[in-house]
Amino acid sequence: MKTKTEKWQQGLYPSEIITATCNCGHNIDHEKVGLERRYSFWMNLAQFLGVTPIPHQLIWYCRQCGKEFASTSDRDICDYYSI
Ligand SMILES: [Zn+2]
Repeated sequence: MKTKTEKWQQGLYPSEIITATCNCGHNIDHEKVGLERRYSFWMNLAQFLGVTPIPHQLIWYCRQCGKEFASTSDRDICDYYSI
């Protein structure tokens, strides 16, 4: 199955995240798929102090079926998704 995941993402994400799909067959790049950032207690505190927080876990979920079908705590990916 062909995905529209960009090349830079293929270098960033491990293959199990790129190929992961929910019950409807949506991958992490699909418009109905959302990304949830989870922050540790200390990162919440950092955010409160005005420091850019880095999530310690990222979870991709489908807005259609509600399934959380991919997650990572990879430091490079979490760094990328810090705001
Ligand atoms: Zn789904």
